[in-house]
Amino acid sequence: NKRIILKDYVTGSPKEDDMVLTSCTSKSKVPEGSKAVLVKNLYLSCDPYMRALMSKPIPQSYANSYVPGSAIIGYGVGKVVDSGHPDFKAGDLVWGLTGWEEFSLISMPQQLIKIKDTDVPLSYYTGILGMPGLTAYVGFHEICSPKKGETVYVSAASGAVGQLVGQFAKLMGCYVVGSAGSKEKVDLLKNKFGFDDAFNYKEEHDLNAALKRCFPEGIDIYFENVGGSMLDAVLLNMKVHGRIAVCGLMSQYNLTQQEGVHNLFCVVTKRIRMQGFLEPDHEHKYPQFLELIIQYIREGKITYVEDVAEGLESAPSALIGLFSGRNVGKQVVLVARE
Ligand code: NDP
Repeated sequence: NKRIILKDYVTGSPKEDDMVLTSCTSKSKVPEGSKAVLVKNLYLSCDPYMRALMSKPIPQSYANSYVPGSAIIGYGVGKVVDSGHPDFKAGDLVWGLTGWEEFSLISMPQQLIKIKDTDVPLSYYTGILGMPGLTAYVGFHEICSPKKGETVYVSAASGAVGQLVGQFAKLMGCYVVGSAGSKEKVDLLKNKFGFDDAFNYKEEHDLNAALKRCFPEGIDIYFENVGGSMLDAVLLNMKVHGRIAVCGLMSQYNLTQQEGVHNLFCVVTKRIRMQGFLEPDHEHKYPQFLELIIQYIREGKITYVEDVAEGLESAPSALIGLFSGRNVGKQVVLVARE
């Protein structure tokens, strides 16, 4: 059973060799009398929150850090090969938290979700039909309180979450602009996801001017994925009574000390509502979300772009790539075909 383990806690930017591929000869099986299930991992998800779990545990963190020497844990799609749990049987397809390894023994299979709809790519359960999908849906529809005709700005817009936020906003009849870090991604935003406009933030010397150009009348809704200087520029361009959903702060995760925000007073003068949120608080909405989004996919109302790295051994590099923007779309790792 090959697995990827975390070597030691990470400070600053994670590197590929902070994780190591190891193998042990014993293939796990479900112990006699246990309610665990043994899963063959098919797809693994690379997500930005995993960076936080590579750091030394800190008090008040929203999640438990990884244990050095143990397999990295993350979302994945797998196939049950052995089960001691009455709700699961060999052959069932599932998604949920699993290990970065070929086979995982899941001791609490109640946290796994059985996959019933298989007319869509299975990897979608790490993205559009999984945690990032629900994040985009709740973050946009609930936290942003959008109305038809409003102006919406999305940063990290071509990623796992961003590409969906933009498409949800278009479906609602909003005017949507996204930013991303390469020409290829900007083209995707405009030509594949239907954004009204898009720009490469790495080529803009003045983010404030770029936003003024795209939003001469100002921004009603900002879906925040990156933080830092982008947030400062956005604050200057928000409309009165605008809303900011703080989903994540990609530009801050590898810093030992977070950057300050300079234009926070705009929140007061423009009466902006700025709200953070965490997807796990909304997991009870998943069944309803799944039903709706799968219908959207079938009807061709929504599209999804993935970046699939092949082989378990490619997982560390795929995860690290999120922090330099190497991924084009949702970053997935293909471990095994069904
Ligand atoms: P993405 O697929 O968007 O991948 C991350 C992207 O971030 C990269 O491709 C890169 O795109 C961009 N990026 C990397 N470094 C920087 C930087 N220094 N400045 C600006 N952009 C950068 O990831 P996800 O869609 O999975 O996640 C997007 C955000 O949502 C993250 O902040 C994440 O933490 C957050 N999140 C929050 C959740 C919640 O419950 N609140 C749940 C899931 C995700 P580019 O080329 O455009 O720079």
